[in-house]
Amino acid sequence: MKKRIIIVGNGFASLFFIQYFLPLPIFPFFAFFFRRIYSRYQISVIGNGKFVYFPAIPDFIIGTKDTNHVTIDIRPFLRRRNIELIDGIVTDIQDGGRTVITNNGTYENDALFLGVGPSFLKDDIPGTEKHTFSPCAGPNQMESLVDKLHKLDGGTIYLGFKANKKDGFVGGRGGQMYECACLIDYYLRNKRVRDRFEIHFFSPNLTPGDKGAITDSLQKRDIVLDYGYEPAEFVDGGMIDDDGSFRKAHLILYSPGITGPSFARQSCLPVSAGGHIDVDNHGQARGLSNVFAAGDCASHEDPPRWIPHQAHMAQLRSRSAAKNMKATLSGESPNDIYRYELSCILNMGNDALWLHRADDDKPPFWNIFPRRSVKLIRLKNLLESAYLFYLRYL
Ligand SMILES: Cc1cc2nc3c(=O)[nH]c(=O)nc-3n(C[C@H](O)[C@H](O)[C@H](O)COP(=O)(O)OP(=O)(O)OC[C@H]3O[C@@H](n4cnc5c(N)ncnc54)[C@H](O)[C@@H]3O)c2cc1C
Repeated sequence: MKKRIIIVGNGFASLFFIQYFLPLPIFPFFAFFFRRIYSRYQISVIGNGKFVYFPAIPDFIIGTKDTNHVTIDIRPFLRRRNIELIDGIVTDIQDGGRTVITNNGTYENDALFLGVGPSFLKDDIPGTEKHTFSPCAGPNQMESLVDKLHKLDGGTIYLGFKANKKDGFVGGRGGQMYECACLIDYYLRNKRVRDRFEIHFFSPNLTPGDKGAITDSLQKRDIVLDYGYEPAEFVDGGMIDDDGSFRKAHLILYSPGITGPSFARQSCLPVSAGGHIDVDNHGQARGLSNVFAAGDCASHEDPPRWIPHQAHMAQLRSRSAAKNMKATLSGESPNDIYRYELSCILNMGNDALWLHRADDDKPPFWNIFPRRSVKLIRLKNLLESAYLFYLRYL
C-alpha cells in the first residue's frame, strides 16, 4: 500500500520539501513516466497552486521586477512529479495530524508536512491593515505601494518593522525593510527628486546608537534613523505617538511581527509561546507522530537569538524534514538536524551587502564572493533565475 503524504502550502518550505523528498533524477523527462508507473508514495499538495518568489518583491520599487515575474503556476511542476494539487485552504488539523480539514473537503494521511508560511501580528499596532503597506503582503499590495510612491512628488516616507521574539529568534522582516528603504532612496535619486523627500526608518526592536554595515548604509543615504520608535497607532496621513502627538507620513511601509497560522490554535497542533507550530530540531511537531513543519510557520528548538525567518532557512529545515519523514515512514527514528544560517543579499540599487552568519561559521559559497559589491546584485538575480527555471521546467 502506498503511503499517503499531504503537504500543506505551495511556498518555499513545501517546494524545498518536495525537492528533497523526490530528488531530481538525471533525466527528468523519463522520471515523469517512471513516477506514474512506480511510486512508494501518494503525494498531495493542498494550496492555491501559485508560488510567489518573495525575495524579488523589493525590486518592484526600481521597476526591474513585477507580479508576473515573481508568480509561478506550480501545477506543471507538481504534475511532472505525479503530485496531486488539491485547491483549498486548510482550516483545521485533527486526529494527531492524520486528518486535514479544508474549505472544500477532509483528507486523511500517513504523514503530514506543513509549510503554510507566516501570519502577521497586524493587530499589534492599531491601523496597520488600513493605513500601511507591506512588501510581505505579496505582489498585488507591492504594486499598489509602488503606484502610490510613483505618484508622490514630495513628502515623508516611513519604513519600519517589528519582530516577534517570544520564541527566542527573530520572527520579523528587518532585512527586507532595509532593502526597501535603500531601493526607495535609489529610485528617488535616479528621478532627481530625493531632496523633496524625508525617509525615516523605525523599529522598536532596534536601539538608538546601534551600529553596523546596514545602519551605515542607511545613514550614507540620509535616511533618518528612528531606532527604538514604535507608533501607538497608524492613522490616515500618518502616525500617533504614545504622547498623542501626530507624525505626518505620506507613505508608510510596515512589516508586523510574524507568528504561526491562526488555525493551529484550535487544532491538535502544538503551539509555541510566540504562536508558531512548535517543532523539535528534527522539524517534527512536538507530541505528534509523522507531522513535520518548516519555514515561517514553525518555531525552532533552542535557536540562536539572531536567526530570522528566511527562504534560505526554510530550505535547510525542509531538507531535514524530508529526510526525517522518510526515516519515520520506514520505521526508523528521525536523526537529521538542520544547521542555523542567515544568508541573504541586500540589493541597495547601487550597492549590495551579503548578510551572513552561521552557527558553525561556515562561509557562503566557500567565500568566493565578496561580502560587499554592486556585482552581488547580478549574483542574486542569477540565483533567482536558476531557481525559477528549476520550478518552471525541471
Ligand atoms: C519582501 C520579501 C523579501 C524577502 N527576501 C528574502 C531573501 O532575500 N532571502 C531569503 O532567504 N528570504 C527572503 N524572504 C523571506 C522568505 O520569502 C520567506 O522566509 C519564505 O517565503 C518562507 O517560506 P514559507 O514556505 O514558510 O512561506 P511562503 O513562501 O509564504 O509559503 C506559504 C504557502 O502556504 C500557503 N498557505 C498559507 N496558509 C494556508 C492554508 N491555511 N492552507 C493552504 N495553504 C496555505 C500560501 O498560499 C503559500 O503557498 C523575503 C520575504 C519578503 C516578504
